[in-house]
Amino acid sequence: MPDGIRAMSRTGQHPARAVTCPHCGAHDRAPCTTPSRRHQLTENPVHHARISAWVIATAVCPACQVAPGTPCRVGGRAIPEPHPQRVQEAEVTT
Ligand SMILES: [Zn+2]
Ligand SMILES: [Zn+2]
Repeated sequence: MPDGIRAMSRTGQHPARAVTCPHCGAHDRAPCTTPSRRHQLTENPVHHARISAWVIATAVCPACQVAPGTPCRVGGRAIPEPHPQRVQEAEVTT
């Protein structure tokens, strides 16, 4: 019996590149950029805000049950950051 071969579809690019970065404006799968080259985002070239936007656009939140495209809600009010569970949800489904 062969070892399970993992069908890794990862290209090394964060899937959040599919959305425009609200922080630096990078879009069309372009990497995020920084005004200063002193802090190149080499390890994870995606701004946190972009990941949040991608999570909100793609995943249903397991915590507050909002649909894709809808910001997370706490107590009936929208919050800028998605729930951590939603981030996990987005990362395992892509
Ligand atoms: Zn960015
Ligand atoms: Zn939520």
